Amino acid sequence: MLFQVTSTLTRQIQSRKLLVLKFVLVPQAQSGSYDPFFMKASKRGQGTRQEPNVVNSLDSFRCIGCICNEGDTHINWMWLYEGKPKRCECGYWFELKYHPAPEEHKLPL
Ligand SMILES: [Zn+2]
Repeated sequence: MLFQVTSTLTRQIQSRKLLVLKFVLVPQAQSGSYDPFFMKASKRGQGTRQEPNVVNSLDSFRCIGCICNEGDTHINWMWLYEGKPKRCECGYWFELKYHPAPEEHKLPL
């Protein structure tokens, strides 16, 4: 009985992984923007209050690091929350953009 339950759960997990692979990761790889977990570093833009640097996230909060001045040997770490733009000590503004994970029942089959 335990084996059957474990086996069923394993199959369900594998089918979910395949759905994410098919409908999320492969299209990103084909479009050349393969960064499914937003792990790549990005350069700052204007960074003003009106046009903050957008930080993509898979959750409603994220820890980010700002290298305030070129040549700095340390990183200024800070927490960023959805709906609460934040200004670094160097003056650049950052805003979090939340990307919720696709819900399994909404994925095309
Ligand atoms: Zn900074």
